[in-house]
Amino acid sequence: MKLYEENQLKVYNSLSKSKELFKPVNDGYVGMYVCGPTVYSNAHLGNVRTFMFFDVVYRYLLHLGYKVRYVRNITDAGHLENDADEGEDRIAKKARLEKIEPMEVVQRYTVDFHDVLKNYNFLPPSIEPTATGHIVEQIEMIKEIMEKGLAYEVNGSVYFDVLKYNETGNYGILSGRKIEDAIHNTRTLDGQSDKKNPQDFALWKKADERHIMRWPSPWSDGFPGWHLECSVMSTKYLGEKFDIHGGGMDLKFPHHECEIAQSQTCSGVTPVNYWMHTNMLLLNSQKMAKSTGNFILPNEILSGENNVLGKAFSASVVRFFNMQANYRSILDFSGDALEASEKGHSKLMDAVNYLDKIEANKTSTFDVNSWKDDCYAAMNYDFNTPVLISHLFEAVKNINQIKEGKASLTADDLNVFSKSINAFVFDVLGLMNEKTEGNNSDKLSGVVDMLIQMRKEARENKDWALSDEIRDKLLALDIQLKDGKDGTSFSIN
Ligand SMILES: [Zn+2]
Repeated sequence: MKLYEENQLKVYNSLSKSKELFKPVNDGYVGMYVCGPTVYSNAHLGNVRTFMFFDVVYRYLLHLGYKVRYVRNITDAGHLENDADEGEDRIAKKARLEKIEPMEVVQRYTVDFHDVLKNYNFLPPSIEPTATGHIVEQIEMIKEIMEKGLAYEVNGSVYFDVLKYNETGNYGILSGRKIEDAIHNTRTLDGQSDKKNPQDFALWKKADERHIMRWPSPWSDGFPGWHLECSVMSTKYLGEKFDIHGGGMDLKFPHHECEIAQSQTCSGVTPVNYWMHTNMLLLNSQKMAKSTGNFILPNEILSGENNVLGKAFSASVVRFFNMQANYRSILDFSGDALEASEKGHSKLMDAVNYLDKIEANKTSTFDVNSWKDDCYAAMNYDFNTPVLISHLFEAVKNINQIKEGKASLTADDLNVFSKSINAFVFDVLGLMNEKTEGNNSDKLSGVVDMLIQMRKEARENKDWALSDEIRDKLLALDIQLKDGKDGTSFSIN
């Protein structure tokens, strides 16, 4: 029996605004799509929060035994500066300002994005498709929408006809926006727009002469609208109807609203069963902004090279801190809050590292199975990681009591306890045991120091052959010895 068969997972669906029992389209399989980054600048901490939460969703679904296809795209074309389909393409603008090719911008910031995610121990998605890799499919989808009479061409650009769609569809179903409000909230740019109505959105934009990123199409040399790629790539890899679609709450409108309209027009069915949205992130209780200096890059947290947190924090501590808040609440990043998390994280890891040393007893003084059920219940209740963490701290309390001889577990209970703690801490939350890693590097230093001492003795005995052999063999392992006035030191390359 798979774990998912004995767990009743509930998911808060942004569409119905309620927690619903999770039932995948195909038994045992989950299709999940998360809107990825527009790669025109360094990975943003707010986005990292979103992706980190969906990493935990992915990890928990895998832990429950589901076969998960997780698709997270890379937007490398088509994302304009504002939501009114005007302004420059963000990547093209960066390329112009830095005097490099757009694809150099894309490459640089895709590498940065992957570097950040690796540092923070993310599992890679099953598929990471790009917008530029799916131009043909996007053109096909535009043709399909035009054939259904819901898009029109003006001067080489193609727009989705929101009013027409709304005759049978429901634009605003996700964000709760009324179409009249949408008109009010959309800026018309001094009559420059080709749109019939201001709430219509671009499926294809004709490129002007200076626009470098362009592809031929039946309408013009141009580029696809931003919302289109996600409809194309989600349905291409997950089917017309799939299980989970995620993203930051700022994407609800217009991005996800437009996605629903496009996909529904083509397939005739609502594309997504469960919409999930993460809340925003603040830094020192304020919105992050480069212009005010209240800003930090994810990798600067790890290096400590920043003026906002006071010191460096490990990736696992940052993960732990993120998971102490519910994903639907605002998360306030600050040095003090991270420092508190660091202490909690250290206590947790000390307890985890003590598990191997516990010896089984004839009796159990606490109910391991009921504790384990509580952990699952927390995650089953819309991935409630802060409650899971509170249960992990009950486990810490019990481990410490065992240490003091005040509590005990039978061999069977100890086995369940140990396996469950490891599963939730490492497999599900994705935390890293830096303490054991630290111990290993201490051990390595100890071994190298010992060899340095042996080499010193060899040199004192004028055994140059042995002295050189120690140096050369260490160098072959990328450990370089440096002889100086104060003795020999080493560096690991
Ligand atoms: Zn998207």
